[in-house]
Order: sequence, then structure tokens, then C-alpha cells
Amino acid sequence: MSYYDFDLFVIGGGSGGVRAARVAANMGKRVGIAEEYRLGGTCVIRGCVPKKLMMYASEFSEHFTASKGFGWTIKDIEFSWSTFINAQKKEIKRLEGLYRTSIANSHAKILESRAELIDPHTVKIINTNEKITAKNIIIATGASPNKNEYVKGSELCITSNDVFELEKQPQSILIEGGGYIALEFASIFSGLGTEVTIVYRGNEFLPQFDQSIRQEISNSFAHRNIKFITQTTITEVTQATNNELEVQLSNGTSVKVDQVLCAIGRVPNTKNLGLENANIECDYKGAIKVDKYCRTSQDHIFALGDVTNIAQLTPVAIHQAMCVVETLYKDNPTCPDYELIPTAVFTQPEIGVVGLSEEQAVQKYKELDIYRAHFRPMKATLSGSIEKTLMKMIVHAETQRIVGVHIWGGGAAEMIQLITIALKMGAKKSDFDQTMALHPTSAEELVTTYTPSYKIREGVII
Ligand code: NDP
Repeated sequence: MSYYDFDLFVIGGGSGGVRAARVAANMGKRVGIAEEYRLGGTCVIRGCVPKKLMMYASEFSEHFTASKGFGWTIKDIEFSWSTFINAQKKEIKRLEGLYRTSIANSHAKILESRAELIDPHTVKIINTNEKITAKNIIIATGASPNKNEYVKGSELCITSNDVFELEKQPQSILIEGGGYIALEFASIFSGLGTEVTIVYRGNEFLPQFDQSIRQEISNSFAHRNIKFITQTTITEVTQATNNELEVQLSNGTSVKVDQVLCAIGRVPNTKNLGLENANIECDYKGAIKVDKYCRTSQDHIFALGDVTNIAQLTPVAIHQAMCVVETLYKDNPTCPDYELIPTAVFTQPEIGVVGLSEEQAVQKYKELDIYRAHFRPMKATLSGSIEKTLMKMIVHAETQRIVGVHIWGGGAAEMIQLITIALKMGAKKSDFDQTMALHPTSAEELVTTYTPSYKIREGVII
């Protein structure tokens, strides 16, 4: 039997990698984990967590405006970018420390360096030139923002990685993209008082989402003075003045702004990892190919999280990590379950989704009942906001199973998390109908909308 330095070596200290390392080490396995930047990965260091903190900062402006209708007079409102960024950095450092402590407590060894494969069982620790062998390896190196290198002047643009490091708040920003990151930062910056313009190559944002949600977001952005230019891309960026960039667009116009943010997708981190030395295959997008157990083309090497491009979401990476540990160390081969992954876009208000959109459901089922509630939330009656909440439920008519829920409105993400439990349990529309409402809430609409708004039979609305 061969001797290895470690039972398990994990490359990448993000959510998925840390979970796998920690759980395996807690089981008594000899585990090493290499991270070249900061423990916590995209989610903790420059993604979900700092983004959500920034979203909270941004939401206050709306609360201040709304409060007037409830009798408040607020004077001297001012936002300090540096105060917020410093507080945020302190919190991220605290979380990073917790990650470090939890790994140390599990007795996994942390190697603060980039690691590359030099053969199927050996990794090289770049900072020390050390060569380490492992019986099993997990690659959890994540993904990085795509910067369109083909566009002239792309080096002048920032990505989501850089937003949290900006020394001052931009007075104006142009954001390219129509997905999660573009829309979330458009909301955030707009709430903080920055003038926002979105440039999107498609017709309407979030093409994979339900059409009715897509309409809401476009209407809302227009109402909030977030400019958007569709069917357009950036063709060139130049430095106009010390503080200003000039952006040429494919529609022939140009815009001057303080910052340009590229939010055009994320690319799996597979370059220069030595994957070829271990015969690990990637797909055409550069993502590591894995089987249903997250196993790569090498039986003893696994990959999980964004580097596999299955679903670039933190909870998916963590779930995959737990499955790999079951498969490797508990004699219980376990496939991750990708059915009904809830998702939220943290715009203002939020989007929360689980299951199929109407457009996807029509492709799958001949008979559907659609329940819609589109209403002015109670708070808006005094705040004066004209924005409505939308709740849409898609029901397979034959079985009455709920196959998709889509919410646009305050608290949508929190609601969807709980609705997902019901859907995982196979909830039928009658289960919702028999559930007592909680009044007054927005969520009660989900259990009090008894009659279909419309039906779809063989793809035709009746
Ligand atoms: P998305 O895939 O969500 O969106 C990318 C956008 O960029 C799309 O609108 C796409 O257009 C556009 N695009 C792609 N390539 C080009 C190009 N060459 N030129 C111009 N436009 C282009 O990616 P994001 O970067 O927003 O986010 C990455 C992933 O991170 C998300 O998919 C999500 O999984 C995850 N994430 C999740 C969050 C959450 O859970 N709340 C928050 C942030 C990120 P088109 O629509 O035409 O394809």
C-alpha cells in the first residue's frame, strides 16, 4: 500500500473546500488545505456576504423616504462610503478568522499558498516549492469574474472583486450585464445615490427567469431612475479625464462615468492548476467535468463548487462537499441533489424563485394552472411607493403539484427559502389552500389565492 502525506488534500479555501476539509479532518482523516488568497472564498471575502452588507447600507435611503409618510422628519442624511467600507472590512476579517479557527480546530493543516497538481497524487505548494502527496484530492478553486479582454480598455473597468476595495463612492457607474451581479449592484449603487446606467446585450434582464418577474424588474428600474440600454455592448473604454471614463457603445453612443463595472459572468478557475498533469478533463467553458458524485476523470480526484459550473451558488458547493465526504469516508456513495434549488436576486425589492418558470413548465407539462397575486403591499399605502408585489405559483394541473413559485417583493428571499421545504415535500396546491393565513402579511397571498388566474392547456392560455 502506498504512503501518502495526507488522506485528503483540498485545493481552494472557499465555502465548499473548507467544509470538505473540516468535516473530513473532524472524522480523523489527515487533511491539508491550500488557499492562495484569503480563507472564505468568493462568498465570504468578495461575494455574497460583503454584497449583502452593502445592500443593507443601500436600503436605508428607501426607508428614509418611506418614513415621511409615517410621520417622520429626517434631517441631514449623509452616507459615508469610507465608514461603511471600513465596518464591512472589519466584519469580513472577523468571518475569515472564524473560518481559520474552525479549520485549525479540526486539525486540518492550512497551507497559505497556491497549489498546483504535478501528477495525479502530488500537489506542489508554490510558495515553498514543497511537494505533497495525497490519497484523495478535492479541487474547489471557484471562479473569477469575466472581464471582456477583447474590449479595448477593459483594464480600466472593475469587476465585483474590486467594488469592495473602491476608495470612494462613484458618482456615476456604468454596469455591463443583465444577470445577478449587474442587477444587484445596480440596485445597491442606485440606493446609495450613485447614478447608474446598465448596458445589456439582450432584450430583457434575467432571461432564465419567469417573464412576469422580468417585466417587474424592468419597470422598477425605470421607476427608480436606473437607466438601461438593451441590445447593446461596450466596444471601447478610454480615460477621458483623471476621474472620468468614456465608454463607447455598440449602438453608436457614448457615456462618461466614474466607473465601469463588468458583470458578464464568472469563469471557472482552472488555468495553470496543472490539471493536464493529472489527466483531468474540462468542458469547453473550462469547467472541470464531474460525474454525479462530483468525481473528475480521475477516480480519486473530486471537484466541487463554482469550478464545476454546475450552479454557481454557495449552498450548492457546501452540499457537494458533504456528499463527497459521505462518498469517500462513510461508505455511502451520495450524489448531490440539484432538484429545486432556491435562488434570490438581491435587488430592491428582491426576487425569490424556486422551481420552473412558466416558460419552462410549458415545455414540460401539457396542463398548468397559474395563480398570480399582484398587489400593493400594505406599507406602500402610507409610504407612497407605487411598486407592487408579485407572487406567482405554477401548478401542474393533473397532479396539482406546485412546480414553481416566483416572488417579487420585500422579503422574497426569506419566503422562498421556506416555500422550498414545502415543494421538496411534494406540496400540492390543496396543501397551501388548507394552510391558515397569517394576517396581515404579504406571504398570506400564497395561501389565499384559490382560483387560477389563467390555465394553460397544450401550450395555449385559456
Ligand atoms: P450571470 O450569468 O448571472 O449574468 C451574466 C450576464 O452577462 C448575462 O446578462 C449575460 O447576457 C451577460 N454577458 C455574458 N457574456 C457577455 C459578453 N461577452 N458581453 C456582454 N454581456 C455578456 O453572471 P453574473 O456575473 O451576474 O454572476 C455569476 C454567477 O454568480 C451567477 O450566475 C450566480 O450563479 C452567481 N451569483 C449569485 C448571486 C445570488 O445568489 N444572489 C449573486 C451574484 C452571483 P445573456 O443574458 O445574454 O447571457
